[in-house]
Amino acid sequence: MSISIVIALIVIMLLTCIIGLLVSGQETSSHVQTLQKDIDEIENLLPQTQCRDCGFNGCRPYAEAIANRVADINRCLPGGIETIRSLSVRTGLDVKPLYKKTDKYNEPQIAFIHEEHCIGCVKCIAACPVDAIVGAPKQMHSVINAYCTGCELCIAPCPVDCISMIPA
Ligand code: SF4
Ligand code: SF4
Ligand code: SF4
Repeated sequence: MSISIVIALIVIMLLTCIIGLLVSGQETSSHVQTLQKDIDEIENLLPQTQCRDCGFNGCRPYAEAIANRVADINRCLPGGIETIRSLSVRTGLDVKPLYKKTDKYNEPQIAFIHEEHCIGCVKCIAACPVDAIVGAPKQMHSVINAYCTGCELCIAPCPVDCISMIPA
């Protein structure tokens, strides 16, 4: 085999490798874009309560888990069966009952701070995932009713038990 043929073969092999890498890179990029679109669309179907009752750290992480097929579509308690149906249509996964029962979202509710007992420790502000509580250190705190999703995440951290849930 002449030297020119060997060089030609090496060039062909290199070109084949480069083309293969380019095609593979495009496929990966396309897959990532498709996954992001799936996550966005699934997240849009979730109620944005950010209550973490699904077992994930908010609606976006749950949407990511569904899109990656590591979580089922029946974990959003505030969304209830309507959200499960919507997720089923979007993902093609079967409708099934909520993964656990709760009375928490049967009636719309919001948090109420008994301001006369509030010591201004700010722990409820830190716990609220939707910034529905206003206040400053050592001053009384209040709930912005329009922002409160009724997730109850502020209840446990309050050291003086001055937060209650009331009908919305
Ligand atoms: S349970 Fe539903 S509303 Fe609550 S964080 Fe999870 S996906 Fe969001
Ligand atoms: S105020 Fe309490 S119940 Fe309302 S959204 Fe914030 S943490 Fe949840
Ligand atoms: S956690 Fe309770 S005491 Fe502390 S600021 Fe909030 S309402 Fe007030």
